[in-house]
Amino acid sequence: MGYMGISNMHKAMKNIIVCCLFLNIFQIFVFLTVFFIVDIAIVYLFTSLFFINAYYVIKRQNTSIAVALIHIAICLNTIYMTFVFGWEYGFEYHIVFLICFYYVNSFRSSVAGYALAIGEGLVYLGLFYFVKICGYGGVEELVIHDIVLKDVYYMANCLFVVFMTFIFTYMVASNYTTFILEQEKQNELLEKTIQKDPLTNLNNRAIFVSQIKLLKDNLHKDEKFYFAMADIDFFKQVNDKYGHTIGDEVLKKLANMLEDIFGKQNVCRWGGEEFGIFGVERKSDLVDNFGFIKKLDYLKTEFGNYGFMVDGCAFYSSISIGCISAYDIDNILLKMDKADECLYEAKNTGRNKIIYKSYWLDGSVDKKT
Ligand code: GH3
Ligand code: MG
Ligand code: MG
Repeated sequence: MGYMGISNMHKAMKNIIVCCLFLNIFQIFVFLTVFFIVDIAIVYLFTSLFFINAYYVIKRQNTSIAVALIHIAICLNTIYMTFVFGWEYGFEYHIVFLICFYYVNSFRSSVAGYALAIGEGLVYLGLFYFVKICGYGGVEELVIHDIVLKDVYYMANCLFVVFMTFIFTYMVASNYTTFILEQEKQNELLEKTIQKDPLTNLNNRAIFVSQIKLLKDNLHKDEKFYFAMADIDFFKQVNDKYGHTIGDEVLKKLANMLEDIFGKQNVCRWGGEEFGIFGVERKSDLVDNFGFIKKLDYLKTEFGNYGFMVDGCAFYSSISIGCISAYDIDNILLKMDKADECLYEAKNTGRNKIIYKSYWLDGSVDKKT
């Protein structure tokens, strides 16, 4: 369907068809009551049938056939009228409108589209050659009150083509703009939703990691980086005992605490009941800053002391944390699974604790806490 929204394209096409149909009916009326030329009124009636058909086809969402019907209707009508009246009446300009119509239809960029546009160009040249140069056609001259209506018709036809081209371009352009704006809004929304974990509203793991990678571009000399994984202890039992809804509340509470202590950008839902935490510590900051490990300890204590209320009784939960630190981002990214190992160790040695490993630049372990 090209770059336009399907429904917008249909709307623009429907309006075009209705416009053409009304003008046709008007012509039938003029030729029957003003000029008394029944043949031409019948030709317009025939053309109108094409438009009515096209209208119903487009209602059934079949744009290609509708476009083809419009082309056939206008092309045949133009050939007939030009041959009947001659070149001076301006009917040939309808072909110009038809060619512009190709640009935004469903044949756009297709071989059929180009072929038909070229074909219509040839029809125009053919009409020019036979009617204008060779002088075929022009059998009937329209006269009303002794006025030859050539100039009136010429003007009317030119105005029609200008008007239709304007309307069509306007409709397509405005539909296109609305469509693009809607798309942009949707993309933004989509991007936001896929970056967030729906339950806790924290960043997901992929966004978290990609944000850490971005930090590589502006590093300071005295920085130390931390990555920690926090996992709720015996969380399966919480679910089993109190139900999933309460389990979800516990996850949300921990997520809130993580956000409050470390900042939204530095935490993520790693998956399940595991959370990732990233931190940067500058030696120069440490004097008045609460160190990362201290913050982890604070989190562990706060969470452990929080009473979750179920039926008027409080229950308590706890977390285990595995943490690593390194002096460059690459090492942190490489050693993320070491934080998992630390977490595993914390789980195996009693839970509700922090296991911390620090790595030197060469990747060797500094100390154990
Ligand atoms: P451990 O102390 O060793 O970590 O034990 P655990 O029970 O916490 O660990 P386990 O991996 O056995 O169980 C994790 C549970 O977390 C199982 C799963 O049902 C639960 N869980 C994961 N995601 C969600 C969630 O979004 N909501 C709820 N309510 N539970 C979840
Ligand atoms: Mg767990
Ligand atoms: Mg787990």
